[in-house]
Amino acid sequence: MSNLEIKHLNKTYSSKIVPVRDMSLAVEEGEFLTLVGPSGCGKSTTLRMIAGLEQPTKGQVIINDKDVTHVRAGDRDIAMVFQSYALYPHMSVYENMASGLKLQGMNEREVRDRIEEANRVLGLDDFLNRKPAQLSGGQRQRVALGRALVRRPAVFLLDEPLSNLDALLREQVRADLKQIFEKQSAPVVYVTHDQTEAMTLSTKVAVLNKGDIQQLDSPSTIYNRPANQFVAGFIGSPQMNLLNLNCENNQAVLGNSRIPLPDRFVPPPEVVLGIRPEHLQIATSEDTQTVSGQVFLVENLGMSNLLSVRVNGSDHLTLRALLPSDQSWDEQITLTLPTERIHWFNMQTGERLPDSTTEREMTTTR
Ligand code: ADP
Ligand code: MG
Repeated sequence: MSNLEIKHLNKTYSSKIVPVRDMSLAVEEGEFLTLVGPSGCGKSTTLRMIAGLEQPTKGQVIINDKDVTHVRAGDRDIAMVFQSYALYPHMSVYENMASGLKLQGMNEREVRDRIEEANRVLGLDDFLNRKPAQLSGGQRQRVALGRALVRRPAVFLLDEPLSNLDALLREQVRADLKQIFEKQSAPVVYVTHDQTEAMTLSTKVAVLNKGDIQQLDSPSTIYNRPANQFVAGFIGSPQMNLLNLNCENNQAVLGNSRIPLPDRFVPPPEVVLGIRPEHLQIATSEDTQTVSGQVFLVENLGMSNLLSVRVNGSDHLTLRALLPSDQSWDEQITLTLPTERIHWFNMQTGERLPDSTTEREMTTTR
C-alpha cells in the first residue's frame, strides 16, 4: 500500500516570493489528486518538492510513511512526467522505456514483460523501434507515460502533461490517462491549470491560489459547494455569475428583483450572489424567483447558446445564461433563479456563507 503526505510545506525565495505557503495534504493508494490553479500559484514548485528536485524551506515530504524530505530525488521511488516529455532523442521508443529499468539492473526478460504490459494500455506496439522525432506529440507523451508506468513507482507525479498537445489530441490523451490510471493503484499527483482536466481525471482536487490551498474536496463537492468566491470563479466553464449586491430587509437587490436571503443569515449589508450559467432557465408563469433583462450578446457554442443579459433596473449588472440550442427567447427575457442553485458569499472575505443552521453553529464554535 503506497501513500504520500506533505506536511506544512513551504518554499520561500525572498520575503516577496513565497510560491508555496503552508501546504498539507495526503494522497492514498488508488487516489488521483489534482493540484489546479492559475499560472504562478505554486503547483510546479509543490510537485518539484515532492519529487526532491527542490528543497523545501520548511515542512516534510512523507512517502510510504517514511520521511524523505532529505532523501535524493533518485532514491524516492517516484516517477515524474513533464509537459516537455523529456525523452532521449537518440534512443528508440523501446529503449526510452527500458533505460531506467536496465539502469536498476533488471534483466532483459522482465524489462520486455513490463513494456509489453504497459503497452496494453498505451498502444505503442507499432512504434517501438521509432525515434521520438518520428512520433506525434500525443505519441511522445504516451512514451513518457510508458516510461513512468514500467517503473511501478510508489507515487506518480505529472506536471501539465497535456499542455503541449492541441485541443483534440488533449481530449483523447486525457481519456487515455484516465483509463491508464484507473488500472493501477499507486497514488497520483497531477498538476494542471485546466479545470476540465481537474474535474474529469481526479478523485480529489486541490484548488490553489497564491501558494495556498483554497479547497480540497471531491470534484463534485468543488463544483456544487465551492468554499469561496475564488474557487467558484475558477471551476466551471462558462464561469459562474458572481454579482455584488446590496441587501435590504433580508433580501438581495438584483436590479428590479428582490432575492430573499436564507433566514439563517445575519443580514449583511452586502453579499455576493453566485449562480452558474447552466442553472439559469427561462422563467415559466409559475416561477416566483425571477429576474428580467435585455439580451445584448449571444454566443453560439454548438449544443447551447450563451446569452449575456443586462439586468433591468441596474446600470451595471450582467448575467450569463446557458440555454439549450433548440430553445428560443425574446430580447426581453425573464430568467428564473432556482433557490437550491444559488451560492452566497461574504463580500469582504469571499468565504461561502454557511448552507444550513447546523453548519453555521459549527463554524462559529470552531
Ligand atoms: P505554477 O506551476 O503554478 O505555474 P510555479 O510553482 O512554477 O507556478 O511558480 C510559482 C512562483 O514561484 C512564480 O511566481 C515563479 O515566478 C516563482 N519561482 C519559481 N521558481 C523560482 C526561482 N527559482 N526563483 C525565484 N522565483 C521562482
Ligand atoms: Mg507549472
